[in-house]
Amino acid sequence: MTRPDVPLAGVIGNPIGHSRSPLMHKYWLQRYDLLGDYVRLQVAERDLESVVRTLPRMGFVGANVTIPHKTAVLKIADFISDRATLIGAANTLIFREDGIIHADNTDGYGFMTNVRNGAPDWDPKSGPAVVLGAGGAARAIIVALADAGVPQILLANRTRNKAEALRAEFGQRITVVDWVQAGNVLEEAVILINTTSLGMTGQPELRVPLDGLRPGTVVTDIVYTPLQTGLLQKAAAMGCVTVDGLGMLLHQGVPGFERWFGQRPEVDEALRAAVLA
Ligand code: NAP
Repeated sequence: MTRPDVPLAGVIGNPIGHSRSPLMHKYWLQRYDLLGDYVRLQVAERDLESVVRTLPRMGFVGANVTIPHKTAVLKIADFISDRATLIGAANTLIFREDGIIHADNTDGYGFMTNVRNGAPDWDPKSGPAVVLGAGGAARAIIVALADAGVPQILLANRTRNKAEALRAEFGQRITVVDWVQAGNVLEEAVILINTTSLGMTGQPELRVPLDGLRPGTVVTDIVYTPLQTGLLQKAAAMGCVTVDGLGMLLHQGVPGFERWFGQRPEVDEALRAAVLA
């Protein structure tokens, strides 16, 4: 397959109208004066395979994948990175010139880079992480935390058996905590991570009692609408170091953009402003 004159990329999901990924990739294309485009692709589950196989023949050099296709796409890819295999989901596809469809997962990279930038004094090895939620995003984050050497992950999820399943899969480093007990383990945390959708615009607030949080604890929310969630506002008032979730979205986009368009893009304030606009 020859490289197209105008390389295209996009984000595949259903629904997809809300995705901010085009704002980010189009900003980078313009900023680095690169030829290319990035579009939203609404694809039904039954059409996923035929669409993914057709895109490279239409000038696409890759794609992001989002809900509900992150797991299904693994069955279509020819090559799956170790990280994506471990997480059981991919968010980035690279359509190679030799026709190979390569699947990777950059969510954990995005999460870690965001937290390391926002809380540079956080040492992952220094103590336990409390993780709220056991959905798709939590899987990537748990793998990244374990990789970084976090000694213990205290995991609380409304549906306890989903947390138990992650413990069975990812090992003894995870201790499952009852959802209603989550507030009682915060004293032990050096970092608290909300991976649930609670606190997002249109969703209920996160009601976990935060009194146990110590000043200086890192608190991050992967929800980024609103940017300052109720959790982050309360944690900041208690003297915690807070990191919002927008940076995770922005940093997870970096490896894909670099592979597709040949330029490693920067995440900075101007990009944040462009994506929030
Ligand atoms: P998901 O797989 O659907 O998981 C949703 C999680 O939220 C589950 O743990 C679920 O618990 C919990 N939850 C939902 N409603 C709840 C409620 N009323 N009470 C208690 N827990 C509740 O979704 P996901 O893909 O992991 O995404 C989670 C959130 O992260 C979304 O808001 C998404 O937009 C955001 N996100 C952000 C980024 C970023 O780059 N910043 C990346 C990925 C996702 P149960 O298991 O009990 O249902």
